[in-house]
Amino acid sequence: MIDDYFNGNVPEKKGIKGIITGPSTIVFSSRISHFYRSKNDAILDLANSLKYEVMAIEEKVNPKYIQIDEPFLSTGLVDFKTAREAISIISESVDVPISMHVCGTLDSSFKELVKFDVDILDCEFAGNDVNLNVLRENAGLLKNKKIGFGCIDTSVNEVDSYDDVQNLIREGIAIVGSKNIIIDPDCGLRRASPDVAFEKLQLISKAVKEFS
Ligand SMILES: [Zn+2]
Repeated sequence: MIDDYFNGNVPEKKGIKGIITGPSTIVFSSRISHFYRSKNDAILDLANSLKYEVMAIEEKVNPKYIQIDEPFLSTGLVDFKTAREAISIISESVDVPISMHVCGTLDSSFKELVKFDVDILDCEFAGNDVNLNVLRENAGLLKNKKIGFGCIDTSVNEVDSYDDVQNLIREGIAIVGSKNIIIDPDCGLRRASPDVAFEKLQLISKAVKEFS
């Protein structure tokens, strides 16, 4: 069955999510030579290039939404004003909903992240014992944003306990409401073997069916 998902095949009627790595994360994981006086200039220039990539994804594959991965926004290294401006440059260039994925602990960044011009804020809640409380205390700041609710621990190569995942989703729904929650894994599944990754996704699929 796992073979069905190889070779770029998209399961019928499921739709797909477009993904790019965000400008702040790319710049902060690169060595910038003296052409730029500051990383912030590079981030804004990169955003003006990445918007064409996002526009191409929207046009060519008609995704359900496009996710921008910005894990560096939880590190404390990034200037939020610049990062926010860069994300706006990208999100304003398309009509498709935009999600921003920020893994890591959010106690010092959540209040800034809710100000970004995105439709969905996607964070980790399974392999992190701080973020659920951060969400609980700041859910009122989300306004019209939905939460991408990571409910599978992607830091381990083992299948999660179904009871734990159910309980976590239940808590998430109690905080933001079932209409404002999108269930997904904490982060990418690169640490899991293909078989374990598939079982983890099956577990999410089973939980979603139960709650919908
Ligand atoms: Zn991540």
